[in-house]
Amino acid sequence: MEEDRISEDVLKALRIIWKINILPKWKVFMWKLMYGGLAVNHNLERRGFDISNHCGYCGCEDESLQHVFQTCSVARLAWSVYRIQVHLNDNESISFTTWIQRHILLYYSKDSAENTKLEAFVAMLWSLWVTRNGRVFRNLGGHARSVLIQTEEEMKLLRSFQQGYRWEGMGNQSKDKDPFHPPGFLLVSLGRNKDFFPNFVLQVDGSWAKKTKKVGWGWAYKDGTEDNNCYRDGGGSYGRTSTAFQAEVKACLHAMQWAKEQNINEVMLLTDSNNLVMNLKLNKDGIVVQTIWDINEIKRLAATFNTCIILKADRDRVGSAHNIANKCRKEGLSFRNRI
Ligand SMILES: [Zn+2]
Repeated sequence: MEEDRISEDVLKALRIIWKINILPKWKVFMWKLMYGGLAVNHNLERRGFDISNHCGYCGCEDESLQHVFQTCSVARLAWSVYRIQVHLNDNESISFTTWIQRHILLYYSKDSAENTKLEAFVAMLWSLWVTRNGRVFRNLGGHARSVLIQTEEEMKLLRSFQQGYRWEGMGNQSKDKDPFHPPGFLLVSLGRNKDFFPNFVLQVDGSWAKKTKKVGWGWAYKDGTEDNNCYRDGGGSYGRTSTAFQAEVKACLHAMQWAKEQNINEVMLLTDSNNLVMNLKLNKDGIVVQTIWDINEIKRLAATFNTCIILKADRDRVGSAHNIANKCRKEGLSFRNRI
C-alpha cells in the first residue's frame, strides 16, 4: 500500500471528505473507493482470483467500480430519482475516480451547515455498495428501490450521529498538518489481507514522564460494527523507557499481543504517533536503535493477522487508551481484560 500514489485532486477531495462531519465508516469507505481498494469482481479478477466478472445485478457486464456506482442499471435508476442531481452521462473517458472527485468539489461548501448535498452524495454511494453486497453475499433483492430506502436509513443514522457529536462537544476536529496524506489516512497495512477494513478497533497510547522516565501504556477496544464511540478498557501496563516514542511502540506491541490472545484476527489500531506509522512503513529495520526489536516484533506479529491496519489518528481519537496509559504509569498498574 505504501507504493500507491494519489493525485493532488483526489487528495483534495479526500481532505474534504475527512473534514465534513459524516459517519467514520463513510470516510473509510470513500477512501477505499477512491483508492480502488474495494473488492468488486473486476478488481478481484485483476488480482488473479478466478471468479465470474459479471455484475451481480444485471449479470451482463464487467463489474468494475464504475459499473457498480455509475453505469449499472440499478445505479442509474437510483441516481435518476434521487434528491440530488448527478451527471450520469459524463463522457465515459473520465475515470471513475475523477467522476467522484468532481462531484465532491461540486457539492462541497465551506459552510458546514450546507453540506447536505455532499452528505446525500456519499450516502448514495454507500447505499449502492451495501445493497450490492447484500445481493452478492446474502442473496437479497437489491433493486433501485431498496437502494433508495437504504439512503433514507443512512441519512437518519447520520443525523443522530451528528447530534451526538455536538452534544459531546467534539465539533472541532483538530487539523492534521501532514501534507502528504489526507488527515487520518496515514496508515500501514501489515496483515495478510490488504483489501479489507476490520471492524474491531483498538486505540493504543503511551504515556511517558520525562523526569522519571516512567512509562505507562494502554489500549481500549470497540467492535466497530455498531456506530458508537464507546470503547472498553482492554489492558495496560507500566515500565521505564528513555523516550516517549518507545512508549508508543510498547503500547502498540502489547495491544497487538493482547488482541492475538483474544483470538482477534482482523484489527485496526489507532495511534496518535506519526512516527510509529512512518517507522512501520519503512521496509528497512527500525532506525531508532532502542526500538528495533519492538518494531520488528510488531511487523512479525502483524503478519500473522488476517488484517492488521495501523492508522495515525488525531489525539482525541485515542482518549480512552490515553487515560489508561496515564493511570498505569501513575499507579504502577498492570491489567488485561478479556473480551
Ligand atoms: Zn450491473
